[in-house]
Amino acid sequence: MQTDWDYIVVGSGSAGAAVASRLSEDGKTQVLLLEAGRKDTSIIYKVPILGPMIGLKDKNSDWGFKTEADPSRQGRIDHWPRGKVLGGSSSINGTIYVRGNRGDYDHWRQLGNVGWSYDDMVPVFKRLERNEDGASDVYGKNGAVVVSETRGPHPLTKVFVEAVSEVTGCPPNPDYNGEVQVGASVAHVTQKNGWRYSTSRAYLAPARHRANLKIVTHAEVARVVFEGKVAVGVEARIDGELRVLRARREVLLSAGSINSPKLLMLSGIGDPAKLGQFGIPVVHANPWVGRNLQEHPAFQVKALVNVKTSNMESNVAGYIKNAAWFLLRGGGPASHVLPGISFVKSRPELEYPDLEIQFVAFGYDTTEEGLKLLDRPAITLQPNVNRSRSRGRLELRSGRWQDPPVIHPNMLGDPYDLEVLVAGGKISRQILRSRAFAPYLVGEYQPDASVQTDGQWADYVRQWTTPGHHPCGTCKMGVDDQAVVDPRLRVVGVDRLRVIDSAIIPQITSGNINAISIAIGEKGAQMVREDAR
Ligand SMILES: Cc1cc2nc3c(=O)[nH]c(=O)nc-3n(C[C@H](O)[C@H](O)[C@H](O)COP(=O)(O)OP(=O)(O)OC[C@H]3O[C@@H](n4cnc5c(N)ncnc54)[C@H](O)[C@@H]3O)c2cc1C
Repeated sequence: MQTDWDYIVVGSGSAGAAVASRLSEDGKTQVLLLEAGRKDTSIIYKVPILGPMIGLKDKNSDWGFKTEADPSRQGRIDHWPRGKVLGGSSSINGTIYVRGNRGDYDHWRQLGNVGWSYDDMVPVFKRLERNEDGASDVYGKNGAVVVSETRGPHPLTKVFVEAVSEVTGCPPNPDYNGEVQVGASVAHVTQKNGWRYSTSRAYLAPARHRANLKIVTHAEVARVVFEGKVAVGVEARIDGELRVLRARREVLLSAGSINSPKLLMLSGIGDPAKLGQFGIPVVHANPWVGRNLQEHPAFQVKALVNVKTSNMESNVAGYIKNAAWFLLRGGGPASHVLPGISFVKSRPELEYPDLEIQFVAFGYDTTEEGLKLLDRPAITLQPNVNRSRSRGRLELRSGRWQDPPVIHPNMLGDPYDLEVLVAGGKISRQILRSRAFAPYLVGEYQPDASVQTDGQWADYVRQWTTPGHHPCGTCKMGVDDQAVVDPRLRVVGVDRLRVIDSAIIPQITSGNINAISIAIGEKGAQMVREDAR
């Protein structure tokens, strides 16, 4: 393999796949894409339900990070999954597609991030999207990523949509990715005919045969190589051997919100006191690398119902039935993790919804070993805070690149997030108690009727809140002292190095963040090309 490239892209996830594909589409620019995980040929990464069901905690698909005990949630320790495969987390995620609302991006712009307002971002989303049936005016029609409505959602999804409308007074929303986000909908997903449309499929499959793009899997980058303050390449383990590969123009980190800040710190960009502790020479002192860690805190409100739900089909007969549905008609239970989605205001005077409440057509208990499906038909509503305010942090465990970082989630550290979740719990209960759900409801399961007062709800939320699998913000974009990258995603204080992935998100957006992660990849690649001219 040649050792010198124009660009080296680290990580082939939601953002990195877009970056490598866009930079190499001229047929000339020499691009090397290094991915620590394996190829995504397995069926696990094709049938949507199998990604989260089998991929999670599988060491061939998931980095399997584990957090420290979180004092803001009664010492809970979480498993934080991150995709470790071509396509990154887009190859194992729930495939829900949410852009976020105007307020999210106008806020980014108000923070000083020129080029990231809502009006700037809509064309970027449109550029990446390809609406499955071409019918939507909201979505782009010619992009790389197929976006469609969930095919064959569980019948109670429609009831959920009606129930949210009844409780909130907002009409059902046919497309929450348009100008109006509030309301309930059948979820929109990155799928084609019910099959997962990861960024590997969208961007890398069509680009794979380009002579100027080299994609190497099982290639884990250990650090960025600097000459003075200029990034000149990376050191990576390939075929069991540490090798230095050089980038003539730039090194682009798209290793995700956990590994991009880790790589910066291992390479000498971070808190000098902490780097010194591990004998890492300081290239640029910036104590904010790894800080500003954000999530969508979420918990579950569950009820027993009198209609068959997906947890009742976790047996041979159910697998055969759902596999047949998937193969013959496309979609059905094998295609969706959560078929219904809603954006809700906890207080009517809010300009934008502060809650996302998801509908899951199965019920489960959370145990030490993980999720245990219930043996009775059940559904789950999952409220989570949109623009959460709590901030966690991430630090090096040691100076060894093989060691996972230390993650302090602090997920309910800010009282605002707890307050919004308590409101979300109460609204979820109202949804379950609605006229729309009345014919189907057998009883509330968790929390039970003993949870009534705000204090009881707060205790329940602290005990059961888990991450929405949307960590971000650890290499915050901005123009202030806390910025790790500037609004053109260049790492502050050094040359020829950018972070282009969900780590740069300055404030988490309203909704699942795969769409914005891909958009960051698209926009980042465009900036790299513009700056090269
Ligand atoms: C289980 C799960 C369910 C989710 N569900 C949804 C959903 O339904 N909808 C939604 O919008 N979002 C969802 N998300 C979140 C969303 O998928 C991620 O936030 C998004 O994919 C992040 O994109 P990224 O490019 O920042 O990182 P990633 O997609 O995680 O990509 C990072 C890539 O870099 C590689 N890498 C890391 N370190 C190195 C290294 N040192 N050397 C080489 N390669 C490296 C990784 O292996 C990976 O391929 C989910 C996430 C998970 C884990």
